[in-house]
Amino acid sequence: MNWINDELVRLTEKSLERSLSVYSLAAGHPGHLRRGESRLLNLSSNDYLGLSGHAAIVAAMSESLLSEGAGSGASRLVTGNRAPYALLEQSLAQWQGKEAALVFANGYMANTGVIGALVSRRDVVFSDRLNHASIVDGITLSRAEHVRYRHNDPDHLTFLLNKHRDARRKLIVTDAMFSMDGDHALLRELVVLKQRHGAMLMVDEAHSGGVYFARGEGLSHQLGVNEDVDVHMGTFSKSFGVYGAYVCGSRTLIRWLLNTARPLVYSTALPPAVIAGISKALELVQEEPWRRERLAALTKRFRASLCTAGFTVIDGDSPIIPLIVGDNETAVRFSSDLQDEGIAAVAIRPPTVPNGTARIRYSISALHMEQELMEAAARIRRIGLKLGVLKS
Ligand SMILES: *Cc1c(COP(=O)(O)O)cnc(C)c1O
Repeated sequence: MNWINDELVRLTEKSLERSLSVYSLAAGHPGHLRRGESRLLNLSSNDYLGLSGHAAIVAAMSESLLSEGAGSGASRLVTGNRAPYALLEQSLAQWQGKEAALVFANGYMANTGVIGALVSRRDVVFSDRLNHASIVDGITLSRAEHVRYRHNDPDHLTFLLNKHRDARRKLIVTDAMFSMDGDHALLRELVVLKQRHGAMLMVDEAHSGGVYFARGEGLSHQLGVNEDVDVHMGTFSKSFGVYGAYVCGSRTLIRWLLNTARPLVYSTALPPAVIAGISKALELVQEEPWRRERLAALTKRFRASLCTAGFTVIDGDSPIIPLIVGDNETAVRFSSDLQDEGIAAVAIRPPTVPNGTARIRYSISALHMEQELMEAAARIRRIGLKLGVLKS
């Protein structure tokens, strides 16, 4: 086992070793965390709508715990399927304007399960180079050929679709909002290509679900292409503030997944209390548009103040805002200086992002206050100047 130590030394030398920090909630300070003695503004959470501590969700979960117990006891196809699952799936399908929906234990399992159910050895998956790791792993597990197209490059995708025109089945898969850059997929272009080349289209709305469109339906609705998306996937762990994931599509698709998606078939159903929490969160996501509006307004202000501070910010309206620092060591240093200044914002390094593009990735929540975001931007600027990331 000595090789492990050698590899760990190598990671440490490259400023690539990761370790765990312990955080707790900062009572009375929404949007903040406590770490040891200090209170930190949380600019690294995916709780975009600020639902993770919502009293009505917590109450629904507590009630369900008391009546249904802690665990579901079996996979859904055995005896783990309870009435609230079916109700939730009906509401999800309705919300998404699809025939049917299926809940998975989390986004990682949804992606690996769905891709594995749709393609296998004789098939080809066309995947954006910046897609989430759970998509990459789903493709690997499926044993289909993995063809990566350049990020948001329909011309390159066209070239590759032509090259593989004889494949049995073709699947195009993309993040809707890319998790490390915050930019949007060119969904309209992908729809044209999937139609022209007879491919299936799967969209992962993990970060965009809850954030976009009137009732939080997501980016594919915002861009008017929902009907042409064959597989709409999203999670309950980000905007919904709970845990779990969903897949929406045709009745046929859902029937097929129920029979063949291995993470669904061979794993225990989510605890009933989680389903109760998700169901309440789905109501709030739809019925409290002020959360989306507030998030959009805060995001706009924070992006503007980083620009004014002299940073190059990728254009857009997403609450994910990366500042690319370059080398790993500076990114780690930046993050640790931010922490000293009362800000939690982690350094994202390879292999999560391409080599040489280590970054601090900020994310906004509807729980933040405008004033504290403005102060944070000023501190980020000071550290940027100190570390030479910003030239004065
Ligand atoms: C977070 C994320 C997932 C995984 O979702 P979990 O519910 O956390 O497992 C999948 N896809 C994308 C794009 C994500 O950002």
